[in-house]
Amino acid sequence: MTPKRIAVIGGGISGLAAAYSLAEARRGGAPVEEYLFEASEHLGGALRTEELGGCLVEAGADSFLTEKPEASELCRELGLGDELIGSNDEQRRTLIVRYGKLLPLPAGLEFFVPRRPWSLFSTALLSPGDKLAVVTEVFQRRRAARGDESVAGFVERHFGRGFVENIVDPLLAGIYGGASEQLSAGAVLPRLVELERTHGSLVRGLWRARAKQEKAPGQPLFTTLGSGLGTLVAALRARLEDTRTMRQRHAAGVTRIASAGGQGLRVLFHIGESFDADAVILAVPAHEAARLLETYDPQLADHLVEIPYSSSLIVALGYDAAVQERLPAAFGFLVPRREPLRMVACTFVANKFPHRVPPDRTLLRCFYGGVRDEAVLELNDQQVVELARRELEEVLGLAARPRFFAVYRWRKALPQYTVGHRERLEAVHHRLTGHRGLFLCGNAYDGIGVSDCIRSGKTAAEACLHEVAAQDRESKVETAF
Ligand SMILES: Cc1cc2nc3c(=O)[nH]c(=O)nc-3n(C[C@H](O)[C@H](O)[C@H](O)COP(=O)(O)OP(=O)(O)OC[C@H]3O[C@@H](n4cnc5c(N)ncnc54)[C@H](O)[C@@H]3O)c2cc1C
Repeated sequence: MTPKRIAVIGGGISGLAAAYSLAEARRGGAPVEEYLFEASEHLGGALRTEELGGCLVEAGADSFLTEKPEASELCRELGLGDELIGSNDEQRRTLIVRYGKLLPLPAGLEFFVPRRPWSLFSTALLSPGDKLAVVTEVFQRRRAARGDESVAGFVERHFGRGFVENIVDPLLAGIYGGASEQLSAGAVLPRLVELERTHGSLVRGLWRARAKQEKAPGQPLFTTLGSGLGTLVAALRARLEDTRTMRQRHAAGVTRIASAGGQGLRVLFHIGESFDADAVILAVPAHEAARLLETYDPQLADHLVEIPYSSSLIVALGYDAAVQERLPAAFGFLVPRREPLRMVACTFVANKFPHRVPPDRTLLRCFYGGVRDEAVLELNDQQVVELARRELEEVLGLAARPRFFAVYRWRKALPQYTVGHRERLEAVHHRLTGHRGLFLCGNAYDGIGVSDCIRSGKTAAEACLHEVAAQDRESKVETAF
């Protein structure tokens, strides 16, 4: 039987996970051949590790949340289990800039909800009125909103405006590069929306949920690979066929074609080539998927392009070890919007993942951009470094000149799950059901973290294999008649 040709477009972690799942199915006897097409020089998308001045520098993502298991599971499956390491939680403190000073983020926040509201009494991040709102939330019975609402609106109803501005907003800017008044509570905080629906109070809901849960043994907050997330990319790459893994293949469009088995899809590339496939998995950002599907299904393309994206810029600055002694014991700091700084966040890498930095060095990763500051991506490297140096001096009193630096620009890389995201996804799924052989995966849909993307890629591959098998059964029945 001729194997079905499946094209995966986009070689980030989502596309790699999809192609790897197809390759595993093929090795298990499924009659498929997977082909991976990546536009750039590199596989891995936002996962890239470099060595710089003896430090291991992550150009994009540096770790995954331990409580989401997909990334660790995949690493173990690939024989990288021994390389998994946790964050150094002895230094697990996050600081927030307030009037130019660094204040600790209150401990015991579980997805923004304070487990022990009274422990917030001592924080200088909140006003007395804010604190009262937080402490009395446990007695409230908030009624859930009728439709979707913004994260800011949702959290403000429970804990007040100050809590949103000083705690939730900087945390969200650090994760999504987004603003809490635009992001959707239903898509970003589904667990909390459910707690509100069932308990009214989020704090009470959290207590009850906790009481039912098995107490998990102390897990690190983040997990990563000792040699960097680039190792995961390399291990996935090694499981794919060389001749069917193509870089510098920028897809330009997808069209329908008649094929021997009924209907197929043709992928057109910018270099003028094309590839005919029985099925296509688009593992590219939603705005790029929209472009590829513009003529194939303009309505689907319209829904996809409605998912906005923000850009991010990371500047990694390497210093002599003396600087490390001056850093507070913390993973880093976040900057609320009203502070007069362009920096969104800064990670003290030697505190979070000490093994990545040799004893004679220290490394800071400063984050810029997000929905508030796309313009920062237009600065040249020297301007970025000068900006970061100026702002680090303001916040940390750090005047030292970095020994080395690297600037990474991630244009339109972080999807914003804005209010109405779930409805947009429903519209996308509705259109997709009419298209045989077309699948989507990636960070635009059901979670932006590394584990979410792996799940998304694997799920798309499974759906594709399922459909290909069904097509096969149908063609056998037709032949029998
Ligand atoms: C700066 C940054 C830091 C992050 N930090 C973390 C973190 O610490 N932990 C965490 O869990 N998550 C983090 N994330 C989120 C997570 O890393 C990403 O959501 C995830 O890596 C996205 O994977 P993806 O494969 O869906 O998309 P991408 O990584 O964007 O990959 C898409 C790929 O498709 C290719 N492509 C695009 N168009 C075409 C085309 N027309 N033809 C062919 N190929 C195409 C691109 O070149 C790219 O390689 C971070 C993201 C960023 C940007």
